[in-house]
Amino acid sequence: MSRLKSQTEIQFLKGVGPRRAEALAAVGIKTVADLLYYLPRKYLDRTQILTIDKLKANLSTTVVGKVMGKGILKGKSPRLEVILGDTTGYLALIWFNRPYQFEKMFKKGDVLAATGDVTYFQQLQMVHPEIERMGDEDDQLIHAGRIVPVYPSTSGLKSAMITGRVMRLLVMRALEEVGETIAEYLPPETLTGLSLPSLAEALQGVHYPAALEQAEKARRRLAFDELLDLQYLILSLRREKSEIEKAHRYHPPGEKVRRFIDALSFRMTDDQNKTVGKLFEDMQSPRPMHRLLQGDVGCGKTVVAVSAAVFAAENKLQSAIMAPTELLAEQHFQTWREPLLKIGIESALLTGSLNAPVKKSLVDAIGKNQAQIVFGTHAILSHPVEFERLGLVVIDEQHRFGVMQRGKLISKGNEPDTLIMTATPIPRTLALTLYGDLDISSIKTMPPGRRPTRTVWRTANSRPEIFEFLKTQVKAGEQVFLIYPLVEKSDKIDLLAAEEEFKNLRDNIFKDFRVGLVHGRIKAAERDQTIRQFRDRELDILAATTVVEVGLDIPSANFMVIEHAERFGLAQLHQLRGRVGRGGKRATVIALAVPPLSELARARLDYFAAHTDGFKIAEADLELRGPGEFFGTRQHGLPELKIANLVRDGDLLEPARKLATELLLPKEVDGQENRKMKNYLEKKAAGRRNLTNYG
Ligand code: ADP
Ligand code: MG
Repeated sequence: MSRLKSQTEIQFLKGVGPRRAEALAAVGIKTVADLLYYLPRKYLDRTQILTIDKLKANLSTTVVGKVMGKGILKGKSPRLEVILGDTTGYLALIWFNRPYQFEKMFKKGDVLAATGDVTYFQQLQMVHPEIERMGDEDDQLIHAGRIVPVYPSTSGLKSAMITGRVMRLLVMRALEEVGETIAEYLPPETLTGLSLPSLAEALQGVHYPAALEQAEKARRRLAFDELLDLQYLILSLRREKSEIEKAHRYHPPGEKVRRFIDALSFRMTDDQNKTVGKLFEDMQSPRPMHRLLQGDVGCGKTVVAVSAAVFAAENKLQSAIMAPTELLAEQHFQTWREPLLKIGIESALLTGSLNAPVKKSLVDAIGKNQAQIVFGTHAILSHPVEFERLGLVVIDEQHRFGVMQRGKLISKGNEPDTLIMTATPIPRTLALTLYGDLDISSIKTMPPGRRPTRTVWRTANSRPEIFEFLKTQVKAGEQVFLIYPLVEKSDKIDLLAAEEEFKNLRDNIFKDFRVGLVHGRIKAAERDQTIRQFRDRELDILAATTVVEVGLDIPSANFMVIEHAERFGLAQLHQLRGRVGRGGKRATVIALAVPPLSELARARLDYFAAHTDGFKIAEADLELRGPGEFFGTRQHGLPELKIANLVRDGDLLEPARKLATELLLPKEVDGQENRKMKNYLEKKAAGRRNLTNYG
């Protein structure tokens, strides 16, 4: 008998055929191995099948029996009741949802396995049990009497008659066919060290575990494989980069750098100094720098970046410092132009909205290295700008760039050093995943004299009081941000709409004050104009959507009200909060939440009010929301993790990284073949399916 291999096309598995193969391909199952990596979304514990006479309230169990009758019970909440009987008695199965639709699914005489919690309400019953139709007696072995996998289903699978039962059969067959040939490719010490099962055991156990703990161990093994693949990818990208040599060499920091730092109006904090030192070290190395600088809003990343740019200028190299918005670029330019000029460094502001002649003369100047530091948006890089000697690229506030995109961004210069700065502090686990190809520095302390923002959250009932309070503050000369989650009234959820509410604020509540509005639908130029007015104190109140989230520095604003705070994630709330309290005065943030509030929303708001440490907030956010939503893994250009979960499997990330590092050692170690790597690559290619397509 010719056995199947793991790479055999799925249609050759008994029971599949061309039509089913097509339906399976639609969910990514093309080979036998793909099927084995199609993991259950949950399990039903059917190790305990009880006869009906053994049932008691509060048991969680499976019952196998025949449909004896059914009916819709009308009343306040109509429900479907199906009576299941075995040789020992009767049990009522109850559905409240769509009872009429459900009713059609049952016929007298059907044999069912019902799994669920037994309750007592006038009779013994199961409400909304999991139902499995039973066929031939001998099928029972893989469908009942054990822990049974439940696979994700789609309409395509259903219309090809691939029910849960069929899927289980197919997986079982696939395991029988190829299970014994699944080769291990991880070093044994890795498996024992992490107490993970072998690949063969894992693939068996993840589908047909003897106990639920075994399923979890199996899943973790597969999660480790996935994390290993990812780290291998990231580290090989990094290695490619590290084989590159820069065209320029640096002299150690000298006169200009010293004068720049001496002239600052403040002393840099220890963390800032340490980071500057790291950057100087990186820049003097023959390899291009790839560093991520993370630090909470307001911790002072900009001065660190500008110091690096000064160091580059001292070495006759140009720098591009890129911000996500024109307004921010302008802000940077205004802050630094003078201090830079004093030490003989010309800077320029290059944005898309400059008029053509100005732009042209700037581009000329940059081409001749007459401007050494160029502030702008990242449009600088797509611009027809030719730097004469671009040595440093700084990307500010870019938590929105992915591994793949980063590579493209920096191709402009001749292997420039790159510094990426983000104010969204990233938990270590996530940082390793997202930025594993970068070196990471963190600024953890705030400049001295900052007073933590006072944060409270209230339900929306308090709005009138709070508005009264704001009026007295504005009369006393304070400025206020009013943040709204959306621009237009969404028809699905009744959110306060900035535009509508704005009119009300401007014309009624705050009619004695100057109120401006910015949101994503307003043209950038107009939006920036309004924000400028607010910054220059020509407006008292700025009603805004989250367009103000990133980077804005308006030191005079000390109050913020966040409407519909329950709709924002924790990290986003924290980003918003970072817009106030930048001037040394103690700021106040009031989060208004509209009931009914979920447990999770309350937990989030409580946490937000109680913590101001961005790193703690980021950890909590990751836990509350899960990494997928943290800020969207997809946006990062990273392959989506299918099996691993960064919260549950976070502890596997470091070991995965360590192993990936070992595997990437040179082919030869001390003249000997690197067997570990050879084994890994060979066995992986032979035994495993091509896991993920990292395109
Ligand atoms: P972010 O890290 O959010 O980009 P910024 O670089 O905009 O923060 O800095 C926020 C404010 O703190 C700026 O006004 C900056 O001049 C000031 N600042 C930075 N470092 C220090 C320091 N060591 N001492 C006092 N003020 C500082
Ligand atoms: Mg900043």
